[in-house]
Amino acid sequence: MRRLGLLALLITMGAGCSRAPETAYVPIVPAGVRCSVPLRWPGDDRTVKVRVNGAEPVELAVRGGISHVVAGPFPAGRVSVEVLAGASSTRHDVFALERGLPAIVCDVDHTIDAAGSVAALMSAAGEAGKSVDGSREALAELAESYSIIYLTARAEPLWAKTEAFLRRETFPDGPLLGWRMGQDPVSRATLKTRRLRELDAVWPAARWGIGDKASDEEAYRAAGLGSILLEPAAAEPVRQVADFCWRVRSWRDAVALIRQHDGAKQ
Ligand SMILES: [Mg+2]
Repeated sequence: MRRLGLLALLITMGAGCSRAPETAYVPIVPAGVRCSVPLRWPGDDRTVKVRVNGAEPVELAVRGGISHVVAGPFPAGRVSVEVLAGASSTRHDVFALERGLPAIVCDVDHTIDAAGSVAALMSAAGEAGKSVDGSREALAELAESYSIIYLTARAEPLWAKTEAFLRRETFPDGPLLGWRMGQDPVSRATLKTRRLRELDAVWPAARWGIGDKASDEEAYRAAGLGSILLEPAAAEPVRQVADFCWRVRSWRDAVALIRQHDGAKQ
């Protein structure tokens, strides 16, 4: 497992204006620097005004589809980007990850949402979600010393519902990465490996991945993360199955394992 990709992180910081990947539901940027942020614009080509985090709006020519806005430096956390076009306005969120904090990447279905994606699909607004025992408390504790990033194979129509579930169940706020139908591979492991590589290009600080499927483990290991799979029926609380690759019985065991390796605080 790599440490923190510090060299790559410094290169990213030094570049001054990194380009956030277009694939995240909420674009991820590093906090504290100016960066190029992808902005989805559903309308025609035109000039709009863009206001970042309540600052004075700046004029920008946008094309239908995705335009890039150079903005920042961003404070850490969720940042609002407003697009003002005549009398109408749309709001987009950007997630700025805090410098110096390593990240934990977390799967959604059956890792934190016991109800799973089919229940989410059948629900009107994501109200079917039910948090996995101990997941909320564990992630709240880990969020004190790590950024939390949610990585799911859920398709785009489920992303807003997934964010609603995360808010309702009071999981730590964090960006959500998912599956873009028609653009991404169908294989979960390949999709997640791709998302992790894109994340690494803008924010090479992911350190651990937590999930419940072999495909999660495959993706985390391919990206050089420490991998932890939840295996509630396991006989042992913690079982190492390969280098930097563990199976644990509960979220409490996952937190203990991470603390054992990284220390109480980063
Ligand atoms: Mg899962």
